[in-house]
Amino acid sequence: MYTLRMAKRMLFETNKRLLWKLIWNLGVKGSRSVFLHKRRMKKGQYFPPFLYVSIINSCNLRCQGCWVDVAHKQQTIDLKAMNKLIGEARQVGNSFFGIVGGEPFMHPELFDIFAAHPDCYFQVFTNGQFITDEKARRMFELGNVTPLISVEGNEIISDQRRGRLDVYSKTLAGIDACLRNKVMTGVCTSLAKSNIDHLLTEAWVDRLIEMGVLYTWFHVYRPMGPDANPELCLTPEQQRRARQFVVEMRAKKPIIIIDAYYDGDGKALCPAANGISHHINPWGDIEPCPIVQFSKESIHSGKDERTLFEKFTQSEYLADFRKLSQETTRGCIVLERPDLLAKLVEKHEAKDSTARATAMQELRSMTSRTSQYHPGYEIPEKNIYYRIAKKLLFNDFGVYEGHDHSRTSAYGQERVQQESVSQEPVQPEPAQR
Ligand code: SF4
Repeated sequence: MYTLRMAKRMLFETNKRLLWKLIWNLGVKGSRSVFLHKRRMKKGQYFPPFLYVSIINSCNLRCQGCWVDVAHKQQTIDLKAMNKLIGEARQVGNSFFGIVGGEPFMHPELFDIFAAHPDCYFQVFTNGQFITDEKARRMFELGNVTPLISVEGNEIISDQRRGRLDVYSKTLAGIDACLRNKVMTGVCTSLAKSNIDHLLTEAWVDRLIEMGVLYTWFHVYRPMGPDANPELCLTPEQQRRARQFVVEMRAKKPIIIIDAYYDGDGKALCPAANGISHHINPWGDIEPCPIVQFSKESIHSGKDERTLFEKFTQSEYLADFRKLSQETTRGCIVLERPDLLAKLVEKHEAKDSTARATAMQELRSMTSRTSQYHPGYEIPEKNIYYRIAKKLLFNDFGVYEGHDHSRTSAYGQERVQQESVSQEPVQPEPAQR
């Protein structure tokens, strides 16, 4: 039933030229880039098949938990630098690029970047508020772009979460413009205490399908930046509920649901720890991921004439970050062990890659909390297509083998603390199904 309904949507709701670009540039060539990554890993070479590039810091919104220097003097990665970056990444088989910010649609050369690389595929993380019919028509003409538009709640919650007025209606207008112009469109949400009951619902997923949205992504709120609001973070039960919901919806709803934190068996992973993705900030600094705002290498040559491939594969800092993450938890090292991450940054004298220069202070003020890793609560995919896709293309690639996280992860640390109080060994809680 699911297969038929999903196939019907792909066949009758999409433009065939855009569908072909998605299948070829992302599906076929994207898969090839992952196989090349896995082959390089065997030689100890880590170059991410999925690069996420923050091309601009500026944004018109002021979201809770945002780690980007949105209020600082505008900084962009210009067309020339993007062409060099994409050109070098394509030489080692990459074809997919995540375009983030700030707000990418504020970048003056955004469409020139897409147009310069018709054989690549771009996913643009956006609040949708600058997407007009004209811009949507341009994305349709190019065909190699999918906007992933963020909705963080109903009218009231959206204004609260994003620090401006009429956020919800302006974002919906952007979504409508994309759908009207037959652009392959996705909608994402950063699940937080304030919106989980509104948006982690079957009604919201059905609404997205009715609107013509092709895919959705439920991120989990991360308490980052100068306005971290940790009280918005999900509880462990809510994190597990989100995973359960995604698995259930994938088995019955004709919409693609993305996640970047679980393999087909439901085992947690960090996409920076297995090297499948790393991040570049608007100043060109290479970072393990968007919320680890410390760097040793830059895409910009300056004194370092090495190629992009050399900068990534020879980075001791990135290698050590992956090693630390692999040894410590299957979840998010930033949320679970900010203490260990701070030590790693100091050991490598990695520079604070923020314009506000307060990243270390912010990291030190974080307390350990659970993330996507809930040992004993693994929820396997029910939908066979996701199981196959994850088996082939998205899992831990063996990087956690041999690592015991029972005392180092957030859960492990909790146990260590209990033991230090009770002076008695504390066994892991048996999983309640
Ligand atoms: S470190 Fe955390 S936020 Fe970064 S990629 Fe890993 S799990 Fe995601």
